[in-house]
Amino acid sequence: MVIIVKGQPEDVDRVVEFVKRRGLSVHLSKGAERTIVGVIGDVREVPAEQLELLPGVERVVRILHRFKLSSKDFNGDRTVVKVKNLEFGGDSIVVAAGPCAVESRELLKDVAKAVALAGAHMLRGGAYKPRTSPYSFQGLGEEGLVILREVSDELGMPCVTEVVSPGQVEKVALYADVLQIGTRNMQNFSLLQEAGRSGKPVLLKRGLMSSIEEWLQAADYILSEGNPNVILCERGIRTFEPYTRNTLDLSAVPVVKKLSHLPVIVDPSHGTGRWDLVVPMAKAAVAAGADGLLVEVHTDPEHALSDGHQSLKPPVFEQMMRDVSCIARALGRTVPGL
Ligand code: PEP
Ligand code: MN
Repeated sequence: MVIIVKGQPEDVDRVVEFVKRRGLSVHLSKGAERTIVGVIGDVREVPAEQLELLPGVERVVRILHRFKLSSKDFNGDRTVVKVKNLEFGGDSIVVAAGPCAVESRELLKDVAKAVALAGAHMLRGGAYKPRTSPYSFQGLGEEGLVILREVSDELGMPCVTEVVSPGQVEKVALYADVLQIGTRNMQNFSLLQEAGRSGKPVLLKRGLMSSIEEWLQAADYILSEGNPNVILCERGIRTFEPYTRNTLDLSAVPVVKKLSHLPVIVDPSHGTGRWDLVVPMAKAAVAAGADGLLVEVHTDPEHALSDGHQSLKPPVFEQMMRDVSCIARALGRTVPGL
C-alpha cells in the first residue's frame, strides 16, 4: 500500500502514526510537493477508507489484493481441480452440458445421451432452481437429484448441480460430483462456507452485479474452509444493455488468469440469454483462455420449463463442440475425445 500525502509535515506524521499503530512499518519518499508513504507488512487489515479521510491524504493505492487464498501471490502455480477423470485448469477444455433443470428422467436421459455423443464431459441439470418469480418452475428437488445421479452414472459422466441454501449442502453433496453456487448466491457467505466444508469441488458463478475482486473474495470463503477445489464460472453481469439477458464479460477470463491460480470456465448460455449467441461466445471464451464451458442444451427448447430460449438443440451443440475443439487445438489445448 502506498499513501500519497500532499500537506504539512504534521500530516505525514499523523499518517505514519496511524500505520505504525497497526504494527506495520513505513518507508518515506519526500518530494517537493508530496510525500509518498510506503507501507510495509501485511496491509490487508489497514482501512484505506479511514486513511483517505486523514488531513493531507491525497490518495491511497492498495497493492496487495483484498483476496488472499485465491490470489497468485498466495499460490503461483495453477490449481487443477480434479473431478473423477476430468481436470479443470489443465491443458484440456472441459465442457459441462445439459438442460437448465432436471425436468424428468426421460428428458434428462435424452439430453444427456445427445451431449455425451457430441463429446461433452460433464452433465449439468438443476434440481433446485433459484427462480426470479415464485410462480415459475422451482425444480424437482430431491427427486431431481436422484434422476441426475442415475443418468450421470448410466452415461459415466460426472455431474454438477446447484445448491441454493446452506442446509441443503449435505444432501446435494451426496448426489453431485460438483456443487454449483449460482450467481444469486455468490455472496451467501454461510452457503460458501458450508460448501467449503463439504470437501466437494465447487463451481462458483460470478455474481450478476459483482466485481472480479468480490468474486475472488467469495472464492476465499470456500478456500478458507480448507477446500482447494474451486472452479470459477463467468456467466455475465448486468449492464444497461437490454438486447442480451446479461453482458458476458469475457475480459474477466484473462483478468482472473492474471490474478488467480484457480480455473475459470464460461457459461455463454446465461451470459447471453439467447441460443443464437451461445456458439459465438463459446468460441470466444475458449479463445480468451477459458478452461471450460457450461452450456444449456435441450431436445425441445420450445417447451422447456426454464431457459429454453438460451438452450441449444443437440445438432447445434455438436457443431459448437467441433468448432471449440478447432480453436483449442490452435491454442495448443485440447477438448478430450474430439
Ligand atoms: C443455472 O446454471 O441454471 C443458473 C441458474 O445459473 P446462474 O446462477 O448463472 O443464473
Ligand atoms: Mn438456466
